[in-house]
Amino acid sequence: MPELPEVETIKSDLEKVILNKKITDIVIHRASVIKEPGLKKFKSLLINSWCKKIIRRGKLLAIEIITHQKEIYFLAVHMRMTGQLVYGKEDPKSRVSFKLSNGFYLCYNDQRTLGELRLVKDIRGLSVIKNMGPEPLGEDFKADDFIRDISVRAARIKPLLLDQKFIAGIGNIYAVEALFSSKINPAKKACDLNAREAKVLFKNIKGTLRKAIKCRGSSFSNYRDGYGNKGTFSENFYVYGRKGLPCLVCENSIQRIKLGGRGTYFCSKCQK
Ligand SMILES: [Zn+2]
Repeated sequence: MPELPEVETIKSDLEKVILNKKITDIVIHRASVIKEPGLKKFKSLLINSWCKKIIRRGKLLAIEIITHQKEIYFLAVHMRMTGQLVYGKEDPKSRVSFKLSNGFYLCYNDQRTLGELRLVKDIRGLSVIKNMGPEPLGEDFKADDFIRDISVRAARIKPLLLDQKFIAGIGNIYAVEALFSSKINPAKKACDLNAREAKVLFKNIKGTLRKAIKCRGSSFSNYRDGYGNKGTFSENFYVYGRKGLPCLVCENSIQRIKLGGRGTYFCSKCQK
């Protein structure tokens, strides 16, 4: 599932190629991924509109467009498990392809079709945005607030990091990697972390996400960037997907447990 670094990579890739391009046609192969408005309106609003800006909030990407009637709309793309937004030639496997004025396409691919496209007037009105916690790389995400918020939560720390209402953009990969870097056991209750541990975690969340953005994301499963290429952060995983392999720090075997229904990797020696 694309997490913050993957969506940020797609955003910066697409900014270089789709801004100020006009959408001249739309080919819809799987209408069910378009959640609003109806298909007819979706097409009539988007065709002959211009891509003006790209926004990322958490794991959500939105393309701000201006229609031929000079109205502003947002095409919000929630990629969920297997969504991809790839610029290039028309891809017959894509679910929805947007033909651009330069002859290239912006293809929305989605193997499992769990993703969602929405064309709305105001993205702030989307429930996913309304309920979203702070951006971990945003300036208003402060250590003191994080330490305080953690101290009152009885949930286990790893599932709490996945809670998009608590903090935006973190999924399974970056939660386990940030916890490993912080030497914190993922099953520990958030309120049992002391202020020093919470501060280290705060730093490592930012550090892990920044490093992953530099590596253009992690292609552990089917993630692709805006040009259809893989990210390389997967080569830097300490624990994710490494069940039974030796810990890169202490050589103890990496364990996989389930927490909140999600596979969770950690080193029981390094993480207390
Ligand atoms: Zn270890």
